[in-house]
Amino acid sequence: MAASPALYRARSLRWRRIRLVILLAGLIAADAAAAEVERRLFAMGTELVVTVSADTRPAALAASERAVAAIAAVERRLSTWRPDSELTRLNAAPVGVPVPLSAPLAADLAEVQRLWRATGGAFDPAVGSLVRAWGLREGGRRPGAAELGEARRAGDFGRLALTGRSATRLAAGLILEEGGFAKGVGLDAALEAARGPGVGRVVVDLGGQLAVVGGALELDLVAPRDRSRRLARVRVASGSVATSGNGERGAIVDGARVGHILDPRTGRPARDFGSLTVWAPAATEADALATGLYVLGPDAALEWAAAHPGIEVAVVEDDVRGLRVRATPGLAAIAVATAVPIETSHGAVAGRAQGGRP
Ligand code: ADP
Ligand code: MG
Repeated sequence: MAASPALYRARSLRWRRIRLVILLAGLIAADAAAAEVERRLFAMGTELVVTVSADTRPAALAASERAVAAIAAVERRLSTWRPDSELTRLNAAPVGVPVPLSAPLAADLAEVQRLWRATGGAFDPAVGSLVRAWGLREGGRRPGAAELGEARRAGDFGRLALTGRSATRLAAGLILEEGGFAKGVGLDAALEAARGPGVGRVVVDLGGQLAVVGGALELDLVAPRDRSRRLARVRVASGSVATSGNGERGAIVDGARVGHILDPRTGRPARDFGSLTVWAPAATEADALATGLYVLGPDAALEWAAAHPGIEVAVVEDDVRGLRVRATPGLAAIAVATAVPIETSHGAVAGRAQGGRP
């Protein structure tokens, strides 16, 4: 029996209304179950903030728990502030005797060796002898010329022989220091551990270095000497952003600031020009490169970045001549708002820009 056109219209209208109610109910149910969990705690000597979105609250909580546990494991392995970490034990091993490495430490050391080489030694995880010479963990002091020379010779990652799953210290003064890369290793481990069914965006902030997966994140590039001054806002779709600077941390010796980033080539603190920000697909490389490229200085850092596609850099110089921001085109391209012009090799980007890889 064919329905009259009027009846048909009424039915179809009712069905449309029912469908709308079902759709709304579905949306409300999804909203009630979907959750964002944020956890703040202290880890690796700094503040850790883990933010996870997931289909359900239990899934978000479990993912955040896995991220926190992964960072704790990295800290147990790499922290030289702990007497019992695997890296502390390697630092105490006798010269010339191969030390077996756990698979994770072997992987960490292989990666930092790659980054040490890539920066021509400007990033050097064997900077521990220089950190000691300058007393950077004890409030600072000025080393004598002989002591500095000795610390510089020992502060060379080339004095660690790495062969797969073992490492051999080749100099008595060799001290590996995790400060320039361990936060990055922690962030990579956290993102990897947080993955799982139903898990959406994960953002981990470890002392100001951020890593994100599963959704975009907007963050501010700020002035090195006035963090309340926003220079640009960038949109990061994945990967990690790390910033290094020599103005804030460090020690005061004889009235002069001794920055905590040291130049392995001179044995002295790297010049305090402002700050340097790196975007890289992985947090370990972002962390190590921010430190290493900071040591190279503004011009050499930008040249390095131009020769290494896939790594984006912003250099903020802040001195008597004023403030100047220079960046790779890829970094300038993810700026969604700028308060100062960003100079690139292609000219200045002012105002808004969009697109780009990161
Ligand atoms: P932050 O830890 O403040 O984020 P960085 O990532 O730049 O800053 O790391 C600075 C730390 O790295 C120093 O405290 C020290 O432990 C270590 N370090 C200093 N100079 C170097 C260097 N040239 N290469 C590798 N590590 C370094
Ligand atoms: Mg670093």
